[in-house]
Amino acid sequence: MTNPKEEKTVVLIKPDGVKRGLVGEIISRFEKRGLKIISLEMFQAQKEQIDDHYPKDEKWIKRLGQKTTNNYQEHGMDLMGELGTEDLLEIGKMVRNWLVEYMVSGPMIKIVVKGVHAIKMGRKLAGSSMPSEAQVGTIRGDFSVDDATAANRDKRAIHNIVHASETLEEATHELGFWFAAEDIFDHKRTDDI
Ligand code: ADP
Ligand code: MG
Repeated sequence: MTNPKEEKTVVLIKPDGVKRGLVGEIISRFEKRGLKIISLEMFQAQKEQIDDHYPKDEKWIKRLGQKTTNNYQEHGMDLMGELGTEDLLEIGKMVRNWLVEYMVSGPMIKIVVKGVHAIKMGRKLAGSSMPSEAQVGTIRGDFSVDDATAANRDKRAIHNIVHASETLEEATHELGFWFAAEDIFDHKRTDDI
Protein backbone atom coordinates (compact mmCIF):
# COMPACT_ATOMS: atom_id res chain seq x y z
CA MET A 1 0.00 0.00 0.00
CA THR A 2 1.30 3.45 -0.85
CA ASN A 3 1.54 6.20 1.77
CA PRO A 4 -2.01 7.61 2.19
CA LYS A 5 -0.59 11.12 2.62
CA GLU A 6 1.00 10.95 -0.82
CA GLU A 7 -2.23 10.28 -2.72
CA LYS A 8 -3.06 12.67 -5.56
CA THR A 9 -6.32 13.36 -7.32
CA VAL A 10 -7.35 15.57 -10.21
CA VAL A 11 -10.10 18.14 -9.72
CA LEU A 12 -11.51 20.13 -12.62
CA ILE A 13 -13.75 23.12 -12.02
CA LYS A 14 -16.12 22.66 -14.94
CA PRO A 15 -17.29 25.54 -17.18
CA ASP A 16 -20.46 26.13 -15.11
CA GLY A 17 -18.37 26.44 -11.92
CA VAL A 18 -16.15 29.05 -13.56
CA LYS A 19 -19.08 30.94 -15.14
CA ARG A 20 -20.88 31.11 -11.81
CA GLY A 21 -17.88 32.54 -9.99
CA LEU A 22 -17.44 29.54 -7.72
CA VAL A 23 -13.71 29.03 -8.27
CA GLY A 24 -12.57 30.49 -4.94
CA GLU A 25 -15.34 28.73 -3.02
CA ILE A 26 -14.40 25.35 -4.45
CA ILE A 27 -10.65 25.71 -3.96
CA SER A 28 -11.30 26.85 -0.42
CA ARG A 29 -13.23 23.69 0.46
CA PHE A 30 -10.29 21.48 -0.50
CA GLU A 31 -7.80 23.66 1.34
CA LYS A 32 -9.85 23.91 4.51
CA ARG A 33 -10.35 20.17 4.66
CA GLY A 34 -6.56 19.88 4.84
CA LEU A 35 -5.86 18.84 1.28
CA LYS A 36 -2.95 20.48 -0.50
CA ILE A 37 -3.09 22.16 -3.88
CA ILE A 38 0.10 21.31 -5.75
CA SER A 39 -0.88 22.51 -9.24
CA LEU A 40 -3.54 24.88 -10.58
CA GLU A 41 -4.23 26.41 -13.98
CA MET A 42 -7.07 27.81 -16.11
CA PHE A 43 -7.34 26.36 -19.62
CA GLN A 44 -9.71 25.79 -22.53
CA ALA A 45 -10.13 22.08 -23.32
CA GLN A 46 -10.51 20.76 -26.85
CA LYS A 47 -13.06 18.05 -27.73
CA GLU A 48 -10.38 15.42 -28.41
CA GLN A 49 -8.88 16.06 -24.97
CA ILE A 50 -12.21 15.49 -23.20
CA ASP A 51 -12.73 12.37 -25.29
CA ASP A 52 -9.38 11.08 -23.97
CA HIS A 53 -9.98 12.31 -20.42
CA TYR A 54 -13.02 10.08 -19.85
CA PRO A 55 -12.93 6.28 -20.18
CA LYS A 56 -14.01 4.91 -23.55
CA ASP A 57 -14.79 1.31 -22.68
CA GLU A 58 -18.28 -0.06 -23.19
CA LYS A 59 -18.69 -0.84 -19.50
CA TRP A 60 -18.17 2.81 -18.53
CA ILE A 61 -20.46 4.08 -21.29
CA LYS A 62 -23.21 1.63 -20.30
CA ARG A 63 -22.82 2.85 -16.74
CA LEU A 64 -23.69 6.36 -17.93
CA GLY A 65 -26.77 4.89 -19.63
CA GLN A 66 -27.67 3.07 -16.43
CA LYS A 67 -27.42 6.27 -14.37
CA THR A 68 -29.85 7.98 -16.73
CA THR A 69 -32.23 5.00 -16.70
CA ASN A 70 -32.25 4.81 -12.89
CA ASN A 71 -32.88 8.53 -12.60
CA TYR A 72 -35.83 8.38 -15.05
CA GLN A 73 -37.30 5.39 -13.20
CA GLU A 74 -37.00 7.06 -9.81
CA HIS A 75 -39.01 10.00 -11.09
CA GLY A 76 -41.48 7.87 -13.08
CA MET A 77 -40.46 9.55 -16.33
CA ASP A 78 -40.73 8.24 -19.87
CA LEU A 79 -37.22 7.33 -21.02
CA MET A 80 -38.31 5.92 -24.39
CA GLY A 81 -40.50 8.93 -25.14
CA GLU A 82 -37.76 11.44 -24.37
CA LEU A 83 -34.62 9.72 -25.61
CA GLY A 84 -36.08 7.37 -28.22
CA THR A 85 -34.26 4.31 -26.86
CA GLU A 86 -33.89 2.19 -23.74
CA ASP A 87 -30.57 0.69 -24.83
CA LEU A 88 -27.95 1.45 -22.14
CA LEU A 89 -25.07 1.70 -24.60
CA GLU A 90 -26.96 4.02 -26.94
CA ILE A 91 -28.04 6.27 -24.07
CA GLY A 92 -24.51 6.20 -22.66
CA LYS A 93 -23.05 7.29 -26.00
CA MET A 94 -25.55 10.15 -26.20
CA VAL A 95 -24.68 11.31 -22.71
CA ARG A 96 -20.94 11.02 -23.40
CA ASN A 97 -21.32 13.28 -26.46
CA TRP A 98 -23.24 15.87 -24.44
CA LEU A 99 -20.53 15.63 -21.81
CA VAL A 100 -17.83 16.51 -24.34
CA GLU A 101 -19.85 19.57 -25.50
CA TYR A 102 -20.32 20.70 -21.90
CA MET A 103 -16.65 20.38 -20.95
CA VAL A 104 -15.50 22.53 -23.89
CA SER A 105 -18.23 25.17 -23.46
CA GLY A 106 -15.90 27.51 -21.53
CA PRO A 107 -12.61 27.60 -19.67
CA MET A 108 -12.01 25.22 -16.78
CA ILE A 109 -9.57 25.13 -13.87
CA LYS A 110 -7.40 22.06 -13.49
CA ILE A 111 -6.06 21.26 -10.06
CA VAL A 112 -3.91 18.54 -8.53
CA VAL A 113 -4.92 17.92 -4.95
CA LYS A 114 -2.69 15.92 -2.63
CA GLY A 115 -3.30 14.51 0.82
CA VAL A 116 -4.68 11.69 2.95
CA HIS A 117 -6.98 9.53 0.82
CA ALA A 118 -7.18 12.43 -1.66
CA ILE A 119 -9.24 10.49 -4.20
CA LYS A 120 -11.93 9.45 -1.75
CA MET A 121 -11.89 12.91 -0.11
CA GLY A 122 -12.26 14.58 -3.50
CA ARG A 123 -15.34 12.47 -4.21
CA LYS A 124 -16.76 13.25 -0.76
CA LEU A 125 -16.27 16.98 -1.16
CA ALA A 126 -17.78 16.88 -4.67
CA GLY A 127 -20.85 14.82 -3.70
CA SER A 128 -23.09 12.64 -5.88
CA SER A 129 -22.88 12.98 -9.69
CA MET A 130 -26.57 13.96 -9.63
CA PRO A 131 -26.70 17.24 -7.72
CA SER A 132 -30.39 16.71 -6.92
CA GLU A 133 -29.30 13.67 -4.88
CA ALA A 134 -26.07 15.12 -3.49
CA GLN A 135 -25.84 15.72 0.26
CA VAL A 136 -26.11 19.29 1.47
CA GLY A 137 -22.59 20.35 2.48
CA THR A 138 -21.01 18.92 -0.66
CA ILE A 139 -20.08 21.16 -3.60
CA ARG A 140 -22.69 19.66 -5.90
CA GLY A 141 -25.28 19.51 -3.12
CA ASP A 142 -24.79 23.15 -2.16
CA PHE A 143 -24.64 24.74 -5.60
CA SER A 144 -26.86 22.75 -7.95
CA VAL A 145 -30.15 20.85 -8.23
CA ASP A 146 -29.54 19.43 -11.70
CA ASP A 147 -30.08 15.78 -12.62
CA ALA A 148 -30.41 13.48 -15.64
CA THR A 149 -34.15 14.02 -16.13
CA ALA A 150 -33.65 17.78 -16.32
CA ALA A 151 -30.44 17.67 -18.35
CA ASN A 152 -31.39 15.00 -20.87
CA ARG A 153 -34.64 16.78 -21.68
CA ASP A 154 -32.48 19.66 -22.89
CA LYS A 155 -30.07 17.22 -24.61
CA ARG A 156 -27.14 18.23 -22.42
CA ALA A 157 -24.90 16.81 -19.71
CA ILE A 158 -25.65 17.29 -16.04
CA HIS A 159 -24.14 20.56 -14.87
CA ASN A 160 -22.46 19.52 -11.66
CA ILE A 161 -19.70 22.12 -11.23
CA VAL A 162 -16.69 19.88 -10.56
CA HIS A 163 -14.93 16.75 -11.68
CA ALA A 164 -12.94 14.64 -9.20
CA SER A 165 -11.12 11.42 -10.15
CA GLU A 166 -13.16 8.41 -9.16
CA THR A 167 -10.50 5.69 -8.78
CA LEU A 168 -6.73 5.36 -8.50
CA GLU A 169 -6.71 4.25 -12.13
CA GLU A 170 -8.61 7.38 -13.23
CA ALA A 171 -6.42 9.65 -11.07
CA THR A 172 -3.22 8.19 -12.51
CA HIS A 173 -4.48 8.59 -16.07
CA GLU A 174 -5.78 12.14 -15.53
CA LEU A 175 -2.63 13.28 -13.74
CA GLY A 176 -0.41 12.16 -16.61
CA PHE A 177 -2.88 13.41 -19.19
CA TRP A 178 -3.41 16.98 -17.95
CA PHE A 179 -0.16 17.80 -16.10
CA ALA A 180 3.55 17.90 -16.96
CA ALA A 181 5.92 16.91 -14.15
CA GLU A 182 7.34 20.47 -14.04
CA ASP A 183 3.85 21.89 -13.37
CA ILE A 184 3.53 20.04 -10.07
CA PHE A 185 4.76 22.05 -7.08
CA ASP A 186 4.85 19.84 -4.03
CA HIS A 187 5.54 21.75 -0.83
CA LYS A 188 5.05 21.62 2.92
CA ARG A 189 2.03 23.22 4.51
CA THR A 190 2.29 24.43 8.09
CA ASP A 191 -0.62 22.14 9.01
CA ASP A 192 0.72 19.06 7.22
CA ILE A 193 -0.02 15.90 9.17
P1 ADP B 1 -18.75 11.80 -11.89
O1 ADP B 1 -18.40 13.11 -12.54
O2 ADP B 1 -19.44 11.99 -10.57
O3 ADP B 1 -17.55 10.88 -11.75
P2 ADP B 1 -19.67 10.06 -14.05
O4 ADP B 1 -18.24 9.63 -14.20
O5 ADP B 1 -20.69 8.99 -13.91
O6 ADP B 1 -19.83 11.06 -12.82
O7 ADP B 1 -20.11 10.95 -15.30
C1 ADP B 1 -19.27 11.95 -15.83
C2 ADP B 1 -20.07 13.22 -16.04
O8 ADP B 1 -21.05 12.99 -17.05
C3 ADP B 1 -20.90 13.70 -14.84
O9 ADP B 1 -20.12 14.45 -13.93
C4 ADP B 1 -21.97 14.54 -15.50
O10 ADP B 1 -21.52 15.84 -15.85
C5 ADP B 1 -22.23 13.75 -16.78
N1 ADP B 1 -23.32 12.78 -16.64
C6 ADP B 1 -23.27 11.59 -15.97
N2 ADP B 1 -24.42 10.92 -16.08
C7 ADP B 1 -25.23 11.69 -16.84
C8 ADP B 1 -26.57 11.56 -17.32
N3 ADP B 1 -27.28 10.49 -17.03
N4 ADP B 1 -27.09 12.56 -18.07
C9 ADP B 1 -26.36 13.65 -18.38
N5 ADP B 1 -25.09 13.83 -17.96
C10 ADP B 1 -24.53 12.88 -17.20
MG1 MG C 1 -16.54 9.74 -13.06
